[in-house]
Amino acid sequence: MIRGRCYVKGSWLEAERSFPVNDPATGRQVGTAAEAGAAEVIAAIEAASDAFPDWAALVPAERAAAMRRVSAALIEAIDDIADIIVSEQGKPRGQATWEVRYATEWLDWFAEEGRRAYGRVIPSAVPGKRLTVLRQAVGPVVAITPWNFPVAMIARKLAPALAAGCTMVVKPAEQTPLSAVKLFEALGSAGLPPGVVNLVTSSDPEAIAPVLLEDPRIRKITFTGSTEVGKLLVRASATNLARVSLELGGHAPFIVFDDADLDAAVAGMLAAKFQVNAQSCLCPNRTYVQREVLADFTQRLSVAVGGLKVGPGHAEDTDVGPLIDDRTFEKVRRHVEDALTRGAEVVIGGSRLEDEGFREGYFFTPTILAGCTDAMVIAREETFGPVVPLFSFDDEAEVITRANDSRYGLAAYVYTRDLGRATRVSERLEYGLIGINDPRPASPVAPFGGFKESGLGREGGIEGLEEFLETKLVSIVF
Ligand code: NAP
Repeated sequence: MIRGRCYVKGSWLEAERSFPVNDPATGRQVGTAAEAGAAEVIAAIEAASDAFPDWAALVPAERAAAMRRVSAALIEAIDDIADIIVSEQGKPRGQATWEVRYATEWLDWFAEEGRRAYGRVIPSAVPGKRLTVLRQAVGPVVAITPWNFPVAMIARKLAPALAAGCTMVVKPAEQTPLSAVKLFEALGSAGLPPGVVNLVTSSDPEAIAPVLLEDPRIRKITFTGSTEVGKLLVRASATNLARVSLELGGHAPFIVFDDADLDAAVAGMLAAKFQVNAQSCLCPNRTYVQREVLADFTQRLSVAVGGLKVGPGHAEDTDVGPLIDDRTFEKVRRHVEDALTRGAEVVIGGSRLEDEGFREGYFFTPTILAGCTDAMVIAREETFGPVVPLFSFDDEAEVITRANDSRYGLAAYVYTRDLGRATRVSERLEYGLIGINDPRPASPVAPFGGFKESGLGREGGIEGLEEFLETKLVSIVF
């Protein structure tokens, strides 16, 4: 049993209460995490605020060296961290290991990019005057993160923040606090100055949110999670006009044109959809297939999806793990039931896995639904589970209109071998990331974020660093 504590000012803090952390594959408790209250949150904010001036004043090369030590510490602890991710999140071990490496890619890239927070000198209209623009760290930051990538989602915020010169208080999801604790053990061993990074875990976000978000020392809130909570945070940020970045829900269209390489499209669907058991903001939610190739694509996809091995993340041959919890499971079940009531048909899957050894976990069989229509709930709400609904379409204009008919705008995927079509469609889709024959468009080196209700701001790339920088004009008369 692992016992997680809060990490404040370089020390591990006990809290008066704790909450249980369970394995979604078995329902068994794997550990406990500290239930931070107002006292721990205030201590963490104070620590981040006290540490800020010195951390921001370091030259970028010094911050880069510290970040590279963090990255090395994560690689050293990779097996240990991956074990915890599997135990409390449920994903297959290979994906958990990949996640830790991915986290280090963010740290490594931003360690270098922090050196390029350039300002500029503007010629003045007045003789004897110089206008200098400086880019400086925005201040202490609060990061609130979800459970689907419990290490990577923190690293994606931590890396640009540290590079820019910001300090941070992290509040991870209540389902996966122990992965965050492991990440912070690595951060602690890398010798960051006390207070630069702080961790508070909680199972009662509503209780600590006002203390965490409305403290005037917090100058930025960065969040990954649901659109509903994202909107609450925007309201909270208004108290002190803290800056906000939001990575929210998605409802990605996956469009297969009649000229597509269908094997590549099927492989792309498996890669984009089934990572972390389709509990990802990027995963395809609506698969539009041009009518001429619908039967062929459906047949190939059902063979591929039928070959996926469902099981606990710790088993060597598992491709797809359990869903995170009962709430997520119920949503998937409701989406399938609604689609079937409205005329969809099950091609494969469609139910809970009831076999011996699976009953205590949240296992849903990988599912394909044929004959889906835009009137179904699954065409509108994010499913966050292993269901591929198939919709047919006839032409380019129609599919662009239907793909854009969503309140979300995070990722979209297009499979075609026609360059003109790829260009036209990608320019008209209202999404922040577009994969043309590419199921994995996201990268630390490129901007990641959503249009519409999928978010505000960008993580990754030079845009990701901008989110943690303020702009200052210094006017010098000489
Ligand atoms: P969630 O319910 O919004 O929770 C995310 C985080 O917000 C958790 O740490 C949660 O704490 C906290 N939270 C909940 N209510 C809060 C409140 N009133 N005040 C302050 N914090 C609060 O989302 P989720 O179900 O964990 O994650 C799934 C969602 O995240 C999906 O919509 C998915 O698309 C989105 N997501 C987006 C991206 C992206 O990059 N765009 C990436 C991954 C996931 P508790 O855990 O204690 O509730």
